[in-house]
Amino acid sequence: MSDTTRKPIVAVVGRPNVGKSTLFNALAGEMISIVKDSPGITRDRIYADVTWLDRAFTLIDTGGIEPDSSDIILSQMREQAQIAIDTADVILFMVDVKQGLVDSDSKVADMLRRSHKPVVLVVNKVDSFDKFMADVYEFYNLGIGDPNPISAANRMGIGDLLDEVIRHFPDRSEAEDEDDRPRIAIVGKPNVGKSSIINKLIGENRVIVSDIAGTTRDAIDTEVVHNGKEYIFIDTAGLRRKNKIKEELERYMIVRTVGAVERADVVVLVIDAQEGVTEQDAKIAGIAHERGKGMIIAVNKWDAIEKDDKTIYRFQEKVRNTLAFMPYAEIIFISAKTGQRLPKLFETIDAVIENHALRIATGVLNEIMAEAVAMQQPPSDKGKRLRLYYITQAAVKPPTFVIFVNDKELMHFSYTRYIENKIREAFGFRGTPLKFIIRERK
Ligand code: GDP
Ligand code: GDP
Repeated sequence: MSDTTRKPIVAVVGRPNVGKSTLFNALAGEMISIVKDSPGITRDRIYADVTWLDRAFTLIDTGGIEPDSSDIILSQMREQAQIAIDTADVILFMVDVKQGLVDSDSKVADMLRRSHKPVVLVVNKVDSFDKFMADVYEFYNLGIGDPNPISAANRMGIGDLLDEVIRHFPDRSEAEDEDDRPRIAIVGKPNVGKSSIINKLIGENRVIVSDIAGTTRDAIDTEVVHNGKEYIFIDTAGLRRKNKIKEELERYMIVRTVGAVERADVVVLVIDAQEGVTEQDAKIAGIAHERGKGMIIAVNKWDAIEKDDKTIYRFQEKVRNTLAFMPYAEIIFISAKTGQRLPKLFETIDAVIENHALRIATGVLNEIMAEAVAMQQPPSDKGKRLRLYYITQAAVKPPTFVIFVNDKELMHFSYTRYIENKIREAFGFRGTPLKFIIRERK
């Protein structure tokens, strides 16, 4: 029985034009199964789900838009590197054999070495292994290990590179022994109140910031004890960029969100009540949805808006419409300022954690399915009727069900949704997505 919670994160760092996007596209084009776009969400090529051999991981491109002057390249690379250090399990550091060793590469390599994170050095644009290998050896001077020559454009050396990357992943059996305290990621746009909520939850105005090379740490884990239970809060707040280019801010927000969400069991998406729910909120919610996390939408600053007896209802409607792909999400209206309903937030987190890891006995599931089938006949096509033989729960986090049928083609999305609703009627599962895998058995 597998637990699908934690996929390793691999972050790509490197100067502009070394070929990061080209590598990204090579991986995204061929060897990966990109999770289907959720309705209403546009996908940026900022992160991708990659599978190599039997290991799945999330690839993040930390490189933003191109800076227009060389003196900000180094500072931008440091920020990229810091994000990679904070979020990634393995860092891919990419350099360009045609440009050779550049001073900013050495500085960033120093920073990566000091982080003690696994770093894989990639030398790109080695279009001919015969001609350019001598130039590749120069990169040993970076002091971060063996250079891995590739040509992203010609898709050479990529298999060996991925072998090297997954070699650094935590052992699966080891990973299972990891601490089992629930992890909650607090995500949302800037200024919605993420830090305020965390501070209030901690119960004191303590903000943990470690300043490295002029940047603020991206994801901060905070242990919180509530009613004798321990929780780990993963905070994506605290990043205040002087560099206010819109696309870049958005990219960093998404990179940090993917990193935090990947490590979490439950995601609290904070929305600003004064601003209402936006497309950007939907994009962030989509990241959690794709990854099958437990989901709570916390509408914050509820103290600051004028209310009548229908305000909550109307707001809820708008959230449900904008985030229509996650009807299972819990919605809660809070104020970090006054503390209104923050105890309820903990209760909701507890409930969602429980639902996300809930396991239903096979016998009960089959009773529910039999009843559902009796109440609404399965669809048929060209004289052949869908038959549902058996259902069993194969995994938790999120709860994943396998249904055995006579013909997969006949199992329409709407009938799966019908079965899902019957399971939800029986067990609730509020706050968690459910996954269904349809298998044929003749
Ligand atoms: P990024 O800024 O790091 O994302 O770099 P890009 O992926 O946009 O690549 C920058 C330039 O290098 C583009 O013109 C690419 O076509 C080129 N490039 C990328 N990979 C290779 C390669 O393996 N060999 C050669 N010769 N050029 C490459
Ligand atoms: P973050 O960027 O998401 O971490 O947002 P902050 O926690 O820094 O909050 C942004 C601003 O919103 C600050 O000025 C806070 O004082 C304010 N704020 C946060 N929570 C609330 C709230 O519940 N009510 C009101 N009225 N203001 C809030």
